[in-house]
Amino acid sequence: MSKFFTERFSALVPYTPGEQPQERQYIKLNTNESPFPPSPGVLRAVEAEAGRLQLYSDPESRLVTKALAKRYGVRPDQVLVGNGSDELLNFAFMAYCDEVCPALFADITYGFYPVFAEINRIPWIEVPLREDLSLAPEDYLDLNGTVFIANPNAPTGLALPVSKLEAMLKARPDRIHVIDEAYVDFGAESMVPFVDRYDNLLVIQTFSKSRSMAGARLGFAIGNAELIRDLNTLKYSTNPYNVNRMSSAAGVAALQEDDYYARNARQIMENRAWTIERLRALGFEVTDSKSNFLFARSERIDGGALYRGLKQRGILVRHFDKPRISAWVRITVGTRAQMEALLRETKSMLEEADV
Ligand code: PMP
Repeated sequence: MSKFFTERFSALVPYTPGEQPQERQYIKLNTNESPFPPSPGVLRAVEAEAGRLQLYSDPESRLVTKALAKRYGVRPDQVLVGNGSDELLNFAFMAYCDEVCPALFADITYGFYPVFAEINRIPWIEVPLREDLSLAPEDYLDLNGTVFIANPNAPTGLALPVSKLEAMLKARPDRIHVIDEAYVDFGAESMVPFVDRYDNLLVIQTFSKSRSMAGARLGFAIGNAELIRDLNTLKYSTNPYNVNRMSSAAGVAALQEDDYYARNARQIMENRAWTIERLRALGFEVTDSKSNFLFARSERIDGGALYRGLKQRGILVRHFDKPRISAWVRITVGTRAQMEALLRETKSMLEEADV
């Protein structure tokens, strides 16, 4: 830290992204990216748009916003695109939390939430997941604050049915519920169909996972028009051109090729079921994931040891050295060949550990 760094941020602990090593070709199962490339139309759209980079992007991102509105059955004024869903989540923390309205989220969830709270000087309350890592909506009922729920949750992969989330909206109409649906396309239910009925619901999604565009940084929020106006106020006060030309064009093209992405998501779900079955046969406890990653632990090997051993063998997974989950690893679901390699190396490590 330099001597000039403001006191305000001197204690800030930034979010730690998963490793993105450049020096070695790993089988990368650590940051929940898609193993599939973007669709051909996306490549064409990006190339065409690159020739117009001398011009600012459309601050209203009208084309991609309209395409999203059509795809999700809402009006364009109910949609806001962002530089990844991370940006929109940050706006939601800024918009709906303050000293008297803390952020409420699970003790085991997306690690960026406490950082968004911290940087905005928002107090937060971690609501412990139950012993089986499930989220119990009733635990939030009597607390004051804005609720943030990743559904499916990360890194557990567990999802709540929309009926339970709707009950939360009904029980507390006086506060906002931000539902982070980064992984919703891998078998969970979306709350988007509820945005017209509830003014206390904001849904946030991303092109990073099911639409193979993590590197494009494109996310979107869907809610009632007033909430979207709030977020726009923050957007125009920080970065009016938050989504670049190529990513917007890529987004429009991706929405025209939804079948390709739906097929890929189905493939991931098949590979997920295939891998879960085999990991369980090896004695692993694996959560019932509805996302593109698995959360697993074994009494035969500690989470940290499994992470390190797999890394040595050329496979990157994610280990969180945190209370309650240090025995677990999170494994992104990749292609069948990648999952075969994961199982082969895991099996061989267990055999070595048993000797
Ligand atoms: N929410 C959750 C639960 C995530 O795991 C991630 C990915 N790290 C994000 C949001 C952010 O995704 P992006 O900014 O790439 O849209």
